[in-house]
Amino acid sequence: MAVREFAERGADLELRGIQKRFPGFTAIEELDLTIPAGSFFALLGPSGCGKTTTLRLVAGLEEPTQGRILIGGADVTDTKAHERPVNTVFQSYALFPHMTILENVAFGLKRRRIGDPLAKAREALALVELDHLAQRKPQQLSGGQQQRVALARAIVNRPALLLLDEPLGALDLKLRRQMQLELKTIQEDVGLTFLHVTHDQEEAMTMADTVAVMNKGRIEQLGAPEALYELPETTFVANFLGQSNLFTGEVVASTDQAITVDAGGFRVTVPSARAQVHRGTITVGVRPEKVALHTEAPAETSDRNTLGSGRVIDVSFSGVSTQYLVDFGRAGTVLVFAQNIGHGPVASLGSEVWVSWAVAHGFGLSDVAGAGAA
Ligand code: ATP
Repeated sequence: MAVREFAERGADLELRGIQKRFPGFTAIEELDLTIPAGSFFALLGPSGCGKTTTLRLVAGLEEPTQGRILIGGADVTDTKAHERPVNTVFQSYALFPHMTILENVAFGLKRRRIGDPLAKAREALALVELDHLAQRKPQQLSGGQQQRVALARAIVNRPALLLLDEPLGALDLKLRRQMQLELKTIQEDVGLTFLHVTHDQEEAMTMADTVAVMNKGRIEQLGAPEALYELPETTFVANFLGQSNLFTGEVVASTDQAITVDAGGFRVTVPSARAQVHRGTITVGVRPEKVALHTEAPAETSDRNTLGSGRVIDVSFSGVSTQYLVDFGRAGTVLVFAQNIGHGPVASLGSEVWVSWAVAHGFGLSDVAGAGAA
């Protein structure tokens, strides 16, 4: 059977004004979120930010203190967990050791007396490419294969919404990378709505079409992975998704096109459209791979920011690229990721260098780095 025939469209998920208080602790401050049907959505954030609580609220394992939850337009806030069109795959999955893989996947269907359970289980196993191992017992499978069985079991009854709670956390790095790509392919094939919770930024960016960055019970920023990476709006997002060079200073010039900030004696210009605020004290930034390193003073042009001269205080060669840390005194340090194309490092430890980057690549944040931001 073709995968497309297996598929049933996923459902929208809507969280309206959700708050979750535990005795003495508010885990979700306020959450408004719409996840369109058929999307692969990641909730990304550090430990304790409220990701799992959000998932448990959607699954019906916790009740919100305030707010409503809608799946496919239907209000399920007061619906019991087992009556919601939702399945969850956890990091730790329990397969029945005495049953074959096929029986494990068919188990829930048999209980509910839905259609031909074994035929449906075979289809689900084919989707995760394990149909050839259907007669084996769980202990005869690798960790990654067992995780795929858990996934087949979760999609076999075609839930409108699949919740994934760090499902790859127990796998080693290589297997995890492979499963990330497989999960994404399966999601595209079955067309269900996936809500994936992770603290691993690379995992979220690789798999999801939309990522919501969560911090302290709130969503800080939501968007396509590239958009979040290219244009972070807060210091938390700038630092949590990859690395950033941040400079804090006073805005000394502001037009419709650009703002210029005095950062420890250096002028840094950012396009106005890429800055969240346009006056007062602000933090501006640029990603390290956007910064060029020069061993001589470059010609200054209005479309580039140039800082000089600094001193290389750390060089770390990693094959494909070299990372340089350059000290600019009062302006702070600048991290540069330089691709090693045809040669190795271009500047040595202790040498004098300049850095520059296109004005178009800078961003201005809505909060000031270090000012109360944890
Ligand atoms: P992790 O990545 O570590 O799983 P998380 O982002 O999923 O973290 P949650 O499990 O949602 O975080 O927890 C959010 C906060 O709520 C934490 O500070 C946690 O201690 C708290 N919390 C969770 N469950 C309860 C509970 N039943 N009673 C009190 N506090 C709780």
